[in-house]
Amino acid sequence: MSETTAASFGAATHLVCRACGAHATLGADYSCWECFGPLEVAYEFGTVTREQIQAGPLSLWRYAPLLPVPANVAETRTLSPGMTRLQPADNLAKALGITGKLWVKDDSGNPTHSFKDRVVAVAQTAGIQLGFKTLACASTGNLAQAVAAAAARAGQRSVVLVPSNLESHKIQATAAYNGYVIGIDGNYDDVNRLCSELIGEEVSADWGFVNVNLRPYYAEGSKTVGYEIAEQLGWRLPDQVVIPVASGSLLTKIDKGWREFTSLGLVEEHPYRVFGAQATGCNPVSTAFADGQDVIRPVKPNTIAKSLAIGNPADGPYALDAVRRTNGAIGDVTDAEVVEGIRLLAETEGIFAETAGGVTVAVTRKLLAQGLLDPTAETVIVNTGEGLKTLDAVSTGDGFTATIAPSVDSVSLVIASGK
Ligand SMILES: *Cc1c(COP(=O)(O)O)cnc(C)c1O
Ligand SMILES: [Zn+2]
Repeated sequence: MSETTAASFGAATHLVCRACGAHATLGADYSCWECFGPLEVAYEFGTVTREQIQAGPLSLWRYAPLLPVPANVAETRTLSPGMTRLQPADNLAKALGITGKLWVKDDSGNPTHSFKDRVVAVAQTAGIQLGFKTLACASTGNLAQAVAAAAARAGQRSVVLVPSNLESHKIQATAAYNGYVIGIDGNYDDVNRLCSELIGEEVSADWGFVNVNLRPYYAEGSKTVGYEIAEQLGWRLPDQVVIPVASGSLLTKIDKGWREFTSLGLVEEHPYRVFGAQATGCNPVSTAFADGQDVIRPVKPNTIAKSLAIGNPADGPYALDAVRRTNGAIGDVTDAEVVEGIRLLAETEGIFAETAGGVTVAVTRKLLAQGLLDPTAETVIVNTGEGLKTLDAVSTGDGFTATIAPSVDSVSLVIASGK
């Protein structure tokens, strides 16, 4: 990269307001100057072929032509996340009574073990283009770690703001990268409001907040989950997908990615249904869905699924739109069901998910029982994070089946007693 190169956002041409359609230039703007609606990146794509993508790097940067990033982004110092496995889940399918094919898109395989590495990689790249020196965010935990790690890789300063009651190992894991980790006495929505207030202040003049002033770029990173699912299925779309919902951005963007792939001719047109998953302790989008409302009423989160605990979800209305347009649904489950979901996925598929993954598995089970998900269709569920991040949720006693003397007899006794 030469210093004289002008900012480049690839095929992205401008920002567009999702509420009123007003245009803005590509910059660190996130809300419309006319109506305060959320801004989204717009593109003019040229021809993009399967061969071109397949020849790219084994990371999300293989989709660089579809993202607001320069063409040489793979050579820059990012963590290059993505291309996580799409694992067939026949045992889980059996346990759930699914007779169609079931897959788990396992995004716990990213560098900091959640899907947040994707959104950070795109926001970080855009932020550097826009001249920000510090990488910052408001976080419920996973984003903090992704930001701190990405900044370390790029030699940037990081400042992350998190609710002070976050799981302590998430804080420790973030602190390892040696950026600023600031605990805020308040919930995520308080932290988010503080970050909005910091925009334009002197102390934070050179901070690019990945999920505030860089949010339009950040959100585009989530499209790559959808792209990968389609490519890994052999360039086609599944019948149904179940996605955890916090702000609603991931769900909205998987749908956007599939619509782009379809309109670019990278996959054949195929009707698919989008399903959302929330915890009952933070279910504003699920509630609006159940009540047939367009407006999302904010809630005060109270759930072990902290990575999904956004009480006032910015993209909630757009998530509702995607779900309704595709004839999907949104469900929510109790914390006890979340734990069951984590255990079920671990026992059947050897995938240990964080609480968000437990939410997704448990909601899948619930939507099947309600007849909303089709058990005969091909289904993908998205696991967004690694179980070690929320170990407390499944900890029971000391974890041992038994503690015994080092003798064959003792082992035999344990096995004979069963589990
Ligand atoms: C952030 C996050 C989500 C969902 O994010 P959205 O805000 O809805 O895009 C899901 N799972 C995990 C583990 C997360 O960290
Ligand atoms: Zn607008």
